[in-house]
Amino acid sequence: MDSATKMPAAFLGHGNPMNALETNRYTQAWRAFGASVGRPRAILVVSAHWYINATAVTAMSRPRTIHDFYGFPQPLFDVQYPAPGLPELAAEVSDAVHPTWVGADIDSWGIDHGTWSVLLHAFPDADIPVVQLSINADKSFDYHLDLGARLAPLRERGVLIVGSGNVVHNLGGVDRRLADSGFDWAQRFDEDAKVTMLDDPIRAAELDAHPDFRHAVPTPDHFLPLLYLAGLAGSGGGRTDVLIDGYAYGSLSMTAYTLDLDHPTVGAGSGAAADLPPAVPPDGSNM
Ligand code: ZN
Repeated sequence: MDSATKMPAAFLGHGNPMNALETNRYTQAWRAFGASVGRPRAILVVSAHWYINATAVTAMSRPRTIHDFYGFPQPLFDVQYPAPGLPELAAEVSDAVHPTWVGADIDSWGIDHGTWSVLLHAFPDADIPVVQLSINADKSFDYHLDLGARLAPLRERGVLIVGSGNVVHNLGGVDRRLADSGFDWAQRFDEDAKVTMLDDPIRAAELDAHPDFRHAVPTPDHFLPLLYLAGLAGSGGGRTDVLIDGYAYGSLSMTAYTLDLDHPTVGAGSGAAADLPPAVPPDGSNM
């Protein structure tokens, strides 16, 4: 990768962490995405699972793999994603978003499952530095959209920016019988979000006025990473595309987007998102 070339960016719908261990049409799409972006200098991930009362960036040289979920089988707790960190990127992020304050986290977080469950497929060698940016739970949708836009200069320095969440994420509504489909309200919201992301991404923060918003986004954590891609897309006038779309358990959408990426050959990927193990209570799983 020539670091003078502008890196693409993406939002990936991660779903159930069991996707980390399986092969299905979503994991195949994540793999095709990783293979098509060249080699980034670093990957900056905005994960739904680092949702705290501050804006912070990981700044350790060896971030730990965090298993932040409950009830899943042991092999998922055994996963390691030993990518290095890149402490100097914390300062670059801080400069890029100035005067917004960003704390440097040297010993709290690491690489959570929102990040490693998708990077295990997209960058299976785990040899590219990974840095996470927290989602500040105290801030408005407009703050997150704007922060995404301010990260744009990092794309010209070889940084691949990835949001990891789910556009529709209602764990209380999970129906295990609907492994590969979505409720009507989930489809309406996901489809309208798609129109916004493809045609006018800067308006993505207005999706909170959608009639199905309260069902689709009962808590904002998994939706907010999308606003970072929307901010990047809006600031640079780039082109967003759907990488892959679909639903899981009725109440999750697995839709993923890319920005400024000539479409990777996803191929005829098949298979629903990973099954939710029977022992896992969706509401108490932190997935
Ligand atoms: Zn999640």
